Amino acid sequence: MDQKQTFWSRVLQLAKAKLNQGAYDFYVENAQLLDIASNRAQIFLDSPYKQLFWDQNLKDILITAGFEIFDSQIAIDYQFTTDTPEQAIVSKPVAQLQEEQSPHPDIKPQYTFANFVQGINNQMAKAGALGVADNPGIYYNPLFIYGGPGLGKTHLLNAIGNKALENNPNARIKYVSTETFINDFLDHLRLNKMEQFKEIYRNLDFLLIDDIQFLRNKASTQEEFFHTFNALYDKNKQIVLTSDRNPDYLDNLEERIVTRFKWGLTTDITPPDLETRIAILRNKCEEYPYDFTDDTLSYLAGQFDSNVRDLEGALKDIHLLASVKHLTEITVDVAAEAIRARKQTNPINTVIAIETIQHEVGEFYGVSLKEIKGAKRVQNIVHARQVAMYLAREMTDNSLPKIGKEFGNRDHTTVMHAHNKIKNMLSDDENLEIELTTIKNKIRN
Ligand code: ADP
Ligand code: MG
Repeated sequence: MDQKQTFWSRVLQLAKAKLNQGAYDFYVENAQLLDIASNRAQIFLDSPYKQLFWDQNLKDILITAGFEIFDSQIAIDYQFTTDTPEQAIVSKPVAQLQEEQSPHPDIKPQYTFANFVQGINNQMAKAGALGVADNPGIYYNPLFIYGGPGLGKTHLLNAIGNKALENNPNARIKYVSTETFINDFLDHLRLNKMEQFKEIYRNLDFLLIDDIQFLRNKASTQEEFFHTFNALYDKNKQIVLTSDRNPDYLDNLEERIVTRFKWGLTTDITPPDLETRIAILRNKCEEYPYDFTDDTLSYLAGQFDSNVRDLEGALKDIHLLASVKHLTEITVDVAAEAIRARKQTNPINTVIAIETIQHEVGEFYGVSLKEIKGAKRVQNIVHARQVAMYLAREMTDNSLPKIGKEFGNRDHTTVMHAHNKIKNMLSDDENLEIELTTIKNKIRN
């Protein structure tokens, strides 16, 4: 083996040890070392989107292997074609890449129209969404989609963003949760940078704003939102909003705003019928390496009837059980065993207290309640604290500031940071996922 090959085998070996199988297959399997010379490695990735993952998770491995084999610090260039380097698009620094390739890191590429299963329950909403993605500002402005949790509102909002970008890669699109909009506004206000805020929000082609019900009771943000809305509307720029309820039921929201919500198309999404639920399951289970019998899919579709998120959760439960037991075929019995806990705890309306979460997380990691709420920066305490913040965010309806307050009066940005950190860790740490599932079950019981 020459040095180049030795280097690459070492990289693969280290990557395999660090990542779980799924992440390895997806991010590393198709990568190639095109060349390494003068301490610069040219690495081919089959999609520019994978570069961020490499930068965040595999850079240390490349550097380590570089030192081991070449005894020096190597630099890394990513390429997205296997052409010779002169013809290839050599990579830019990530910040610049995001600007160019993906100026919209807030839009989730996995939510598309193609993988949104249509049923009678959502066909109007989907048609409206497609309509505005292809013809912004013309037919329905604003588009207002409402419905209960887990029915695909956020999915559709992102699908609009992705389609619009496909139609026009230069489109200025912002997907934002209402909570982020509020925080963004308050931050800019506090820092005396409102001009910048206006610059960002009033010069868009699309404003996609999720869960607008959270604007209720936020008087000063409502005022700013009103002006943002008008500025965009007057320029025929597309506004899309989602909400958990019909505009008529948005109390504590200024009348002039609610009125504007009804100027365009208002459409709801209702829970999917049995047939649609089976179709959704059929679609989703393709992501998993098991055979699901038709019986199993019908069975699962019969167990969860109000929320697509539960259907997905059930597939994850099955995945956990199947990987522990090394199963390849999923029968009704297996499915029933896997979802038992989820079914018992399904009354989604039971309110969970932050203190319960802190208590259970503390028990699990052997950390006291006082330590979780306190300021000690010992590693295991910090981890437990961050997990508790993450779960408080995921399992309760409390706002970020409220959660921060419950953790020894911390700032909301600390909670946001903890949430992001654990979320990122979860994406490539299966053990953590199992830990969290265990803790969640305890919290719910
Ligand atoms: P909401 O924003 O309405 O609470 P989400 O958009 O977050 O719901 O949907 C919850 C999950 O269910 C997401 O993973 C989404 O992809 C999935 N989902 C919802 N509806 C559909 C559908 N019709 N087809 C495919 N997946 C769906
Ligand atoms: Mg949502």
